[in-house]
Amino acid sequence: MDLEIEGRVAVVTGAASGIGRATARRLAREGCHVVAVDLEAITIDTDELGESAIAVEADISDPDCVRRIFSTTVTAFGRLDILVCSAGVFETTGPLDLSADEWDRIHSVNLRGAFLCAQAAAPVMSRTSWGRIVLLSSMAAQTGGLAAGAAYVSAKAGVMGLTRSLAIHFGHLGITVNCVNPGTIETPMTAYVEREALAARTPLRRNGTPEEVADMIAVLSSERSSFVTGAHLSINGGLVAD
Ligand code: NAP
Repeated sequence: MDLEIEGRVAVVTGAASGIGRATARRLAREGCHVVAVDLEAITIDTDELGESAIAVEADISDPDCVRRIFSTTVTAFGRLDILVCSAGVFETTGPLDLSADEWDRIHSVNLRGAFLCAQAAAPVMSRTSWGRIVLLSSMAAQTGGLAAGAAYVSAKAGVMGLTRSLAIHFGHLGITVNCVNPGTIETPMTAYVEREALAARTPLRRNGTPEEVADMIAVLSSERSSFVTGAHLSINGGLVAD
C-alpha cells in the first residue's frame, strides 16, 4: 500500500523510545522528514531516521517547549504535515494511594501535553489545508485498566474525548485527528507489568510490538485515511472488543 507521504514533515513526540521511536523510523522509511522530540535529545537516535531528521529536546507539558518544537520545525522545513503524540508516562498506583501531585504529573504529560502539541500544530498545518494528528490513548481507557492506575486511565480517556473534540474543530482546516488505543505493547513502559499474564488472556496469545502500533499510526498519518477523523483504533490482539 502506497501511503503517499514521501516528503511530508512529521513531528513525533516520545521518539527516543518504544512506540514513538518505531513510528519515527516507520515514517522516515516512508520518506518523511522527521522531527524527533523527547525529554533528552541525547536519547534520540537521528541516524536511524534519515539524513534530514532533527532532534528537539522538549518537555511537552511545558507550553514554551511546545512552541519551540513547532518554531524549530518551521525554521528547518517550512511546513508541518503530521503530528504523532507518543510521549507518555505510566502509573499503577491504587486510587487510595494516589497523591494529587502524581495525578497532575500523569495528566500533564499524557493529556495536557497532547493538547498543547495539537493546539500548536494545527495553525501551521492549516496553511496547506492538510494535516494528520494521531494521539496515543490506551486500551486502559476502554477497560478501566488491567495494570494501569486511575490517573493513567483518566488521562487516556481524556485523550479519546480530546480526539473527538479536535476532529470537530479542525475538520474544516483539512486536518484529521485520530487516536490509537494499544493494548499491552512490549516497550520500556510495560517492563514492570505482568506481561505474560496479559498475553495469556489475549486471543492472539501474545503482546504487541511497537512496530505493529507504528504501522497503524503510519496509515492514520497518510493519504490512505483521508476520510477518517475523530476515530479510535484498537490495537490489542483481540483482548478488548470496542
Ligand atoms: P516509552 O517507551 O516509555 O516511551 C515514552 C517516551 O516519552 C520516553 O522516551 C519518555 O522519556 C518520553 N517522555 C515522557 N515524558 C515526556 C515529556 N514530558 N516530554 C517529552 N517526552 C516525554 O513508552 P511507550 O510504551 O512507547 O508509550 C508510548 C505511548 O503509548 C504513551 O503515550 C503510552 O501511554 C501509550 N501506550 C503504551 C502502551 C504500551 O503497552 N506500551 C499501551 C497503551 C498506550 P523518558 O524515558 O525520559 O521518560
